[in-house]
Amino acid sequence: MNDIFQRMEEIEAQLLHAHTEFGSLKFKIKELLEQNQQLLIENEQLRKVLKRENGYAAVETEQRAAAGPSKEATGSTNGVGEGYDNLARLYHEGFHICNVYYGHLRMEGDCLFCLSFLSK
Ligand SMILES: [Zn+2]
Repeated sequence: MNDIFQRMEEIEAQLLHAHTEFGSLKFKIKELLEQNQQLLIENEQLRKVLKRENGYAAVETEQRAAAGPSKEATGSTNGVGEGYDNLARLYHEGFHICNVYYGHLRMEGDCLFCLSFLSK
């Protein structure tokens, strides 16, 4: 009978260890996802700068031709609208866009700071 209890205690210790391990893996994944998102944003911004600096005329012309005249018409309001859309998309992908937790994963559903920011 003692054997069984000893075995159970061993298993309990293993489970505790696995639980701790799992927790740190979860934390690591959260960190990696946040880092990945930040790199994506940075990459996008760098691409924009690169495009502006080097004036990739060919690419620009191609995109303009593909988008047609409708894009030209909305061109003047693009600045604010596009930025807002990007933030809204980021929020719906599960990230904070508020200045309190910006770029971090939203682990507990909606964030009141973000929502008040979106409703502005
Ligand atoms: Zn937030």
